[in-house]
Amino acid sequence: NEEVNIISGALELKKKTAAEIMTKIDDVFMIPIDSILNFETMSEILKRGYTRIPVYDADRNNIVFLLFTKDLAFVDPEDNTPVKTLCEFYNHPISYVYEDETLDVLLEEFKKGRSHMAFVRYVNNEGEGDPFYVILGVVTLEDVIEEIIQSE
Ligand code: ATP
Ligand code: ATP
Repeated sequence: NEEVNIISGALELKKKTAAEIMTKIDDVFMIPIDSILNFETMSEILKRGYTRIPVYDADRNNIVFLLFTKDLAFVDPEDNTPVKTLCEFYNHPISYVYEDETLDVLLEEFKKGRSHMAFVRYVNNEGEGDPFYVILGVVTLEDVIEEIIQSE
């Protein structure tokens, strides 16, 4: 029954990791920092229906801002505002978690408030060069709650 599912879902939180429940990077809807907020771009954003949209510079692994759909509220598509202008104005904080972070820790972080979306990353220290971060996906509070509720 439902209570048993919720309790076992909660117990699973210590075992599951961010990487296991994230939305993989290739499936994340993002926009490039050099986009212009014209009618086409704004319609695309609204059509997708996401609340939070990562903004990248040159490479999808290089997230520079987080745009909220609600930031578009006062934007007139006729003005051709650069996304960058809006991003710099709102400058929403970006959170990161490591791929192996467990969901109980993730839930605590989300509860603390700053943001309900985190980028899931790991450090690539293979090869000759300096280590660098690789972004694997995004995880939101909703993803964690889905694990708790376990609709089976
Ligand atoms: P909210 O419910 O707060 O309005 P939302 O519907 O945009 O936000 P969430 O409810 O946080 O998003 O998450 C729903 C699912 O969509 C989750 O699986 C999450 O990982 C995924 N998701 C959130 N934002 C994006 C995005 N920009 N691109 C792709 N997937 C996303
Ligand atoms: P190798 O056999 O070459 O040493 P590896 O599998 O040990 O490779 P990498 O593939 O370099 O190591 O990855 C390093 C870390 O990143 C590991 O913890 C791995 O789980 C994680 N990782 C790499 N790619 C992904 C991916 N696509 N999804 C989830 N985790 C990944």
